[in-house]
Amino acid sequence: MDIKVLGGGGEVGRMAILVRSSRGRGVLLDYGVSFDENDRPVFPQHVRPRDLCAVVLSHAHLDHSGALPSLYVSTYVPLYSTSLTMELSDIMFKDMVKLSGYYLPYTDEQVRAVMESALSVVYGERLEVCDDIYATFLNAGHIPGSMMTLLEVEGRTLLFTGDFNYADTNLLRGADLYGVPHDVDVVIMEGTYVAGTHPPRERLEHEFVGKLREVLEGGGMVLIPSFTLGRTQEILVTIVKHGVTEYPILVDGLARQANQIVGKYPQYLRDYRLYRKAMEVALDVPNTYVRKNAVKDGEPTIIIAPAGMLKGGAAVYYLKKLAGNRRNAIFLPSFQAPGTPGYELLVKGEAVVDGSRVKVEARVEWFDWSAHSGRRELTEFIKRFSPDTRILLVHTEPVSALNYAARLRADHGIDNVYVTLGGEEISL
Ligand SMILES: [Zn+2]
Ligand SMILES: [Zn+2]
Repeated sequence: MDIKVLGGGGEVGRMAILVRSSRGRGVLLDYGVSFDENDRPVFPQHVRPRDLCAVVLSHAHLDHSGALPSLYVSTYVPLYSTSLTMELSDIMFKDMVKLSGYYLPYTDEQVRAVMESALSVVYGERLEVCDDIYATFLNAGHIPGSMMTLLEVEGRTLLFTGDFNYADTNLLRGADLYGVPHDVDVVIMEGTYVAGTHPPRERLEHEFVGKLREVLEGGGMVLIPSFTLGRTQEILVTIVKHGVTEYPILVDGLARQANQIVGKYPQYLRDYRLYRKAMEVALDVPNTYVRKNAVKDGEPTIIIAPAGMLKGGAAVYYLKKLAGNRRNAIFLPSFQAPGTPGYELLVKGEAVVDGSRVKVEARVEWFDWSAHSGRRELTEFIKRFSPDTRILLVHTEPVSALNYAARLRADHGIDNVYVTLGGEEISL
């Protein structure tokens, strides 16, 4: 088996791994994008569609899926994923086409071709995806519909985690390794949080809900800029679980559609009744008229809207409306990348959005609300495998990852973890 890291080596973004058998044609695991400083999409290394016999998509985040339509020009390679992931990917692709303006990465036609090539799979299913290549799909616990893939290639085994969360959340059950052998030959795993340990969930929720109540009871509005997929739904069920339902909870932007799609797939959720309740409580903001009215009288309200780092989306409108009043608050429940308005806001208390500088008097808070395994869980995960398993860290910042691998050696005697920097070819 040959493995080629086409993207996501030494970087968080544009995840893409090519696995080939001795017969030549290969399986592509994810084909995502990253974005350059001008917000233009950057694709992984090129792969010829005719050299592929299957594509497997781990989940609907654009850093794993966003470049896929570029491969669907004239060849229709079968694409394996959960139907939930495909439905969510469809709205994400269309949104990307809509937002990209002049730098159109691909056409609506190509998005349609991806959807037409999709074959839906379920957790626990084992399929022959190419001649003598079998794939088994497992819950990854990251966002609804996300999966890990166990490949069997000519007697060798490979586990690709995609993004995964080893811990349970209010929305999802943690990653499921049932059926994954301890002596799998290769593990390609994400290491987004090799550098950090997340706070215990209970403490985080307690802090979040406490501060939320504080602002609302003080007569303020709370804007929660949130990622469309996963984070929005997790925040909503958490708020409802803790009974903060006496104030209006508004959901705006693409998150509304995502909520509805996720609601069609109870089998992927940890507590479907809680999810249903959250959806009943949440109020959709369907258009700009309602949006304007929603914040006009300044009543205590919770507003959940993308984009998670305040790079556009409905959240920007609300930020401008809420920023000037000290009673209001902006709660950032996601990682904020340096250079984004969300990051600027945390560091300087002001941010440039839509070309104008917004000074924020409102209270600003950040919460470590991750959908990825933290350092402790990653180490636990690694320890599960045999010392002979070759473990490759991808989807990670390289310096932190190298430090982490060194610490694993020094503190735990683990010396089978390698950091990939991109472009590597590994033959087994
Ligand atoms: Zn993800
Ligand atoms: Zn990712």
